Amino acid sequence: MRYLPLAKCPTLSGKRIALRVTPQAERAIRSGHPWLFDRAIQEESHVGFHGDLAVIFDRKRRFLAIGLYDPDSPLRVRILHHGKPATIDSSWFRQRIEDAFIIRRHLPATGTTGYRLIHGENDGLPGLVVDRYNGTLVVKLYTASWAAHLATILDELLAVQESECVVLRLSRAIQGVAESWCLSDGMLLVGAAVDGPVLFEENGLIFEADPIKGQKTGFFLDQRDNRAEVAQMAAGKRVLNVFAYSGGFSLYAARGGAKEVTSLDISQHALNGAERNFTYNLERGIISKVPHHLLKADAFQALSDLAHSKKSYEMVIIDPPALAKRQSEVERALAAYMRLAKLGLDLLAPQGTIVLASCSSRVDADTFCEVMHRAARETGRPLNEIRRTEHPVDHPIGFKEGAYLKCLFATA
Ligand code: SAH
Repeated sequence: MRYLPLAKCPTLSGKRIALRVTPQAERAIRSGHPWLFDRAIQEESHVGFHGDLAVIFDRKRRFLAIGLYDPDSPLRVRILHHGKPATIDSSWFRQRIEDAFIIRRHLPATGTTGYRLIHGENDGLPGLVVDRYNGTLVVKLYTASWAAHLATILDELLAVQESECVVLRLSRAIQGVAESWCLSDGMLLVGAAVDGPVLFEENGLIFEADPIKGQKTGFFLDQRDNRAEVAQMAAGKRVLNVFAYSGGFSLYAARGGAKEVTSLDISQHALNGAERNFTYNLERGIISKVPHHLLKADAFQALSDLAHSKKSYEMVIIDPPALAKRQSEVERALAAYMRLAKLGLDLLAPQGTIVLASCSSRVDADTFCEVMHRAARETGRPLNEIRRTEHPVDHPIGFKEGAYLKCLFATA
């Protein structure tokens, strides 16, 4: 076994599953959609194991697509390839990884050594995310079907991206089954143990990520471009960064010449990270001259308390966690986004800049922006849009559900 921690992973049976699906699913797959749900399966040759390859045939029994089978998930097959028949082997995986690498290869030259290397379905490898933090790779699995292919993936990944160590992260839903194969969230797959946070650079600023215990894979890499925008707009402003996590937006605001920055988060652990991220950069530009305040509080409560005490800021950034994870939560999430925008506007100095982000894939960009405008009109502070942004280059959008991040920059 090339990778000892993978010794108990399932091996492939080699027996492919043949499937026939509903006409609707057939159309979706033909148009490149990467998901096949269990309810769309009409015929199944046999029940397979995690990671088996499933071949989907069309009505005329011609090859339609091939994907990874997951017997536990309603998302039964994640499509790897559709169109002409293809062999899914190490060179097929290698090609996907190289394709993904090519669109990111300019990033290190921009002073960025932390970025997403593989963005799941959007890079043709559904349910698999790989983030790079300097010499550390973090492989995050969203389906247990990758376990059987992990050794091949590691071989190809390490051939394309030299790395000192590789950490495994598992989505909550698969931790149980993974445990039976001796895989656990945060375990080391390759290299020497990671001792504490890993340092990396983003646009020339130093940040830490905790690949083992941190949220997602340790850092919110997807906000890189929006953070850079904030730096461009922050000069001379008092900045309030709400849902600050480890202070990404805060640090960029400081680099951009903010008068002072406040990082607000409910988690002391996150704020400690924000404080450390400032200390790593004290030698860089004007950061040491910008006062950085930490505010540990619930955002909703703190924003209204600050408004009551007549505080105001020339820039308010609001980047909450995903508020709608399910369709049934969308209405409530929109109400919460509205409430946050109104609270933020109450604190915004005249002609201030407000930055409103959403990472809920269930809420599309148009709906989000419309709701933000409505909230602003209702508070009597209509927004003048500066720009709307979507994803950075290392988070490509390959299908409709892949578009989750939107951000609105406006003055009011
Ligand atoms: N803006 C961050 C990412 C935000 S992640 C960045 O660019 O890196 C969401 C953050 O919201 C987490 O740090 C979490 O601790 C915090 N959070 C969740 N609920 C909160 C609440 N009710 N009030 C304040 N912070 C909250």
